Amino acid sequence: MGASAYMQERGYSSEAKASWKEDRMSRVVQRVELVEETGGVVGVLKREGDWQRADWRWQMTHRLTALSELRALVEGFEPSEGQLRVSMRYPFAVTPYYLSLIESFTPEDPIFRMAVPLAEEEDDAPALFRDPLAEEEEEHRPVAGLIHRYPDRVVLLMNGLCPVYCRHCTRKRFVGIEKAAASSEQIEGWIRYLRETPSIRDVILSGGDPLTLSDSRLERVIAAVRSVPSVEIIRIGTRIPVLMPMRITSELCAMLERYHPIWVVTHFNHPRELTAQAAQACDRLLRAGVPVNNQSVLLRGINDHPDILEALCRKLLMNRIKPYYLHQSDLVQGIEHLRTPISRGIQIMEALRGRLGGLGIPQYVIDLPRGGGKVPILPNYILSMSPEYTVLRNFEGRIVTYPEPCISAASKVGVNQQEGEGEQGKRAGIGGRMRGGVADQLAGLDTRPLIPQKPDTGGSAKGENGDR
Ligand code: SF4
Repeated sequence: MGASAYMQERGYSSEAKASWKEDRMSRVVQRVELVEETGGVVGVLKREGDWQRADWRWQMTHRLTALSELRALVEGFEPSEGQLRVSMRYPFAVTPYYLSLIESFTPEDPIFRMAVPLAEEEDDAPALFRDPLAEEEEEHRPVAGLIHRYPDRVVLLMNGLCPVYCRHCTRKRFVGIEKAAASSEQIEGWIRYLRETPSIRDVILSGGDPLTLSDSRLERVIAAVRSVPSVEIIRIGTRIPVLMPMRITSELCAMLERYHPIWVVTHFNHPRELTAQAAQACDRLLRAGVPVNNQSVLLRGINDHPDILEALCRKLLMNRIKPYYLHQSDLVQGIEHLRTPISRGIQIMEALRGRLGGLGIPQYVIDLPRGGGKVPILPNYILSMSPEYTVLRNFEGRIVTYPEPCISAASKVGVNQQEGEGEQGKRAGIGGRMRGGVADQLAGLDTRPLIPQKPDTGGSAKGENGDR
């Protein structure tokens, strides 16, 4: 059956038809036919049953990539017309391993919610963008596939292939659609740019997921980047430990070890994702000297509760993974139903501050729309400031005064003044109108230059002092 006939039979509207890409539809139809005729991937999964199999290539080749396959595999799962339409616009794929973490095939299950398209992805609120961080704009993309937004770091987009297409992905616009790995010419262009721009010290390999590439292909890029004298660290942004932990093989770790310092930044959002297999994958990286940091995204119906994030952060610490960032969702089309108000994020951070030590608390940040960069968001702990003292509140709401260094004879305030004591304390309400007030009061409190003319950084970086 051709794509048009398929759509005709299922009664899709002409607008829906127009918005679909014929070739992608054809591929789905082909897969449906394959499943019907041979049992296809679904048949293999049903027969073999070992979905946690420790062979990452098997995991990649046995991904489900159409909702019809999920329907054939999971009794009672019936995708809606809206879900099918969404899966045409934003691809669907899930590894057998990640699928096995789903406990109930409903949107209430956090893993299901991150992996399976929902009809709500069609609801594009006006504030959302296809490319919320302006990664495709020329000013941030001096070379194809290279994003340069901050002076000292760049992101290299290695490919558009991932084991699972996360429903909350910031790069929904191309992951699973433009899957090809960067070409040799493109990589040469990156290396040329890095050599010509010695201010870049930190190179982040991203995508897609760079660890879907073979070891040899990955090594070619890492070795080339490492050969640039001004590059200090290489970071790999990957969700592989979460979605397909068997990819973290000892061979991969041995290869990474040759190019230190290499860091991995991974992406666990929910404690159920941190399985024994995922923990072992991170342990292999750590034993190879690769520090593992975690960035989560705050997602409605998935982790927008302090109990869930506390459990996740504790589990991360137990596995020597540092909770690094908690991201406010980017303004990306297709994720409105997963966005959480900033006020909710602040409440969660308040709650975490009382429950976890500092090591376990991620930094809550918002990546400003249109390439504005990351801004940390904190509950309001500073109530007021003056040249003599600063009034703060702690996580219990207790108000405490901190005396500043004696830069004025008027400084006579002690520590641990209780709520209501002191002029500023009397004026300050918890969480009240302090933002503008503090900013105003900061001006002129300390007139020393913020950054000394010649900072002593405790040693020079590669490329400084003319040594390279
Ligand atoms: S693995 Fe990363 S890049 Fe790929 S879909 Fe998930 S969030 Fe996006």
